[in-house]
Amino acid sequence: MPSILQVALDTPLYRLFDYRLPAQLGPVQPGSLVEVPFGRTLQIGVALERQHDSAIVAGKLRDVIRVLDDRPALSPDILRLAQFCADYYHYPLGAILLATLPPRLRNATPFAADTPWLVVTEAGQAAEPPTRARAQRALLDALRAAPLARATLREQKQGRHAAALVAAGWAEWLRLPPVVDHAPPTQAAPAATAEQQAALDRLLPALGQFGVHLIHGITGSGKTELYLRLIDAVLAAGRQALVLIPEIALTPQLEQHFRRRFPGRRIAALHSGLSETARAENWLAAPTGDILLGTRLSVFTPLPRLGLIVVDEEHDASFKQQDGLRYSARDVAIARGKQSNVPVVLGSATPSLETYAQAVNGRYQLVELKQRAISQAQLPDIELVDLKHIPVDNGLTRPALQALTDTLARGEQSLVFLNRRGYAPALYCPSCAWVSPCPRCSARLVLHRTSHRLKCHHCGFETRIPPECPSCGNPDLKALGQGTQRLEETLAAFLPAARIRRIDRDTMRPRAWAELGEAVHGGEIDILVGTQMLAKGHDFPNMTLALILDTDGALYSPDFRATERLFAQLMQVAGRAGRADKPGRVLIQTAFPDHPLFRYLQRHDYAGYAHTLLAERKQLDLPPFTRQVLLRAEATTMDAALAFLQHAAARAPDTAGVSVFGAAPAPMARVANLERAQLLIQSAQRLALQAFVRDWRPQLDSIKPRIARWSLDVDPLVF
Ligand code: ADP
Ligand code: ZN
Ligand code: ZN
Repeated sequence: MPSILQVALDTPLYRLFDYRLPAQLGPVQPGSLVEVPFGRTLQIGVALERQHDSAIVAGKLRDVIRVLDDRPALSPDILRLAQFCADYYHYPLGAILLATLPPRLRNATPFAADTPWLVVTEAGQAAEPPTRARAQRALLDALRAAPLARATLREQKQGRHAAALVAAGWAEWLRLPPVVDHAPPTQAAPAATAEQQAALDRLLPALGQFGVHLIHGITGSGKTELYLRLIDAVLAAGRQALVLIPEIALTPQLEQHFRRRFPGRRIAALHSGLSETARAENWLAAPTGDILLGTRLSVFTPLPRLGLIVVDEEHDASFKQQDGLRYSARDVAIARGKQSNVPVVLGSATPSLETYAQAVNGRYQLVELKQRAISQAQLPDIELVDLKHIPVDNGLTRPALQALTDTLARGEQSLVFLNRRGYAPALYCPSCAWVSPCPRCSARLVLHRTSHRLKCHHCGFETRIPPECPSCGNPDLKALGQGTQRLEETLAAFLPAARIRRIDRDTMRPRAWAELGEAVHGGEIDILVGTQMLAKGHDFPNMTLALILDTDGALYSPDFRATERLFAQLMQVAGRAGRADKPGRVLIQTAFPDHPLFRYLQRHDYAGYAHTLLAERKQLDLPPFTRQVLLRAEATTMDAALAFLQHAAARAPDTAGVSVFGAAPAPMARVANLERAQLLIQSAQRLALQAFVRDWRPQLDSIKPRIARWSLDVDPLVF
């Protein structure tokens, strides 16, 4: 009887594929990567179960070509986690499994990680090689004293003996320098504050089993310090820690901090800013490492001794992937913790309402830090500048300028926050009212003066700045509104003595963060101008003023999460001001000073505002009190996109407690020449919604006429 193997392949099809497993390939462990013929091509797939028979006639089954044994099989826990994602996000299992691999390991080209160290294994410590294998015994003895570098072994012509020890399981190749036990930290842990100690007293006993714990701590309250101590306890128990962070930009900083605290430990980082080779190597090294620090994709990394998952800045939208498998790494982390019986610690100064609601209702343990760790550090005063009564000159008011001038005179630093990069949001013709449209999107082209271009921030379209109005020929075009480039220019004109640095996606490469940090700490910068990138966990002790310009759009946005997001952003930016021994000040220019958001912000009252928002959401049946799924459709015409969704709605199963809303154009109705529409499904019961989508999804494949693209977004964050 032929042996049949089920293989998951990276296809859009919701099914697995049967292959015949030739006897000479031997048994194949589930999770192994195999190369198989698929149509006219060869593909890499993940081997799953062995079957005894197949629906396909034996003669038509094709053979597995080979097993890729240069890389480890995906572990059972990753297979299980991928299956959870397939069920929860209604996405093909094969596509998920292949996406968990770093790109370099998704193709068949053999990969040899650079593993320069030969290290004795636990089995090797106790092993007794036969007396006649003298050279092997000698090498094993040497390894018990100290690991040996590959180059040294090669020089001593020990390669064959090394291979024999590895084959016997007594030694292994490791990429990272060996662990030094009891290496003294180059940076000692500070004594815990009373609040931190109280938090540890609750968190430490919870290690060792699944549970979700929310550390809600104001900026500077020492959440990172808590993570470090929890990780320390987990490592001491011989387990591993996975730390998920939102931004690539912050990885080097945090990695350095971790290395100083855990010098003898193996710390690997994973994020998309690494080269493909480095990603593959770090992924391969992670299972034998101690700490894995990474952005959302690292939630799928095999870690056989996982003992703790930390999700820092858990509210951050970058944990949600916005294409392909639209997963939330935070939610997948919780699923993983549950499957592996491992605690999950979420941390934030401004938790998402989804998380906060669970903490308030007691499903998650809520641990609060209400004071800054460095006792002198005070929370800043937050003042509003009322734009209805105070005139604006080039985006700045007189009180704002005065505050900048005063701060500069005291030799302290300021931060000016404007969430719009580029020179101006659009180019405008005063004579015919032409406003630089993107030819491919329902959006304006943004004026980038330094590169002399108009750019679309949605589809990437760019063109040079036209010498005259393309519509009426008027040569006198004007910049409309303020972007960070223009703000930088305005500030330089008002404050010629100030050293100004702009930070946004146009100026920052991941490596530039470390350099920027040094420049700010070294006092080489007086004013930092930037977008929301500035709001992320930087700690600049001499930064005493935060100036926030033009955030009013979010106050009355149709997006029901806009105020939650704005509040979080403002809290984070405010947290940048006055972190050390100097009091800080925050100035917000707004035309709506009476909006309740500001009242809570001025009192630094996250909980108060969160409860207000939760009450609103409850009233309106919005998340977190309901769950949503969005069916997104893209087509060359809006009619086609809407028609597709109407067909889809007509095929919706009749499930109690699930509401299907009407098809509607997306808020950004056109991107890159495709019209976009969406259909919202909502239910107060997660399981009912899941069951609904499970029945519904297969129907969507058969809708005619076909459109360019459709996708399901479970728990959508962006509409
Ligand atoms: P958060 O992550 O909550 O914003 P951090 O962990 O970065 O806060 O801590 C803020 C600052 O306080 C850092 O400079 C940190 O070194 C310091 N800090 C944290 N805990 C302590 C402590 N127990 N004693 C002294 N300083 C501390
Ligand atoms: Zn014109
Ligand atoms: Zn565009």
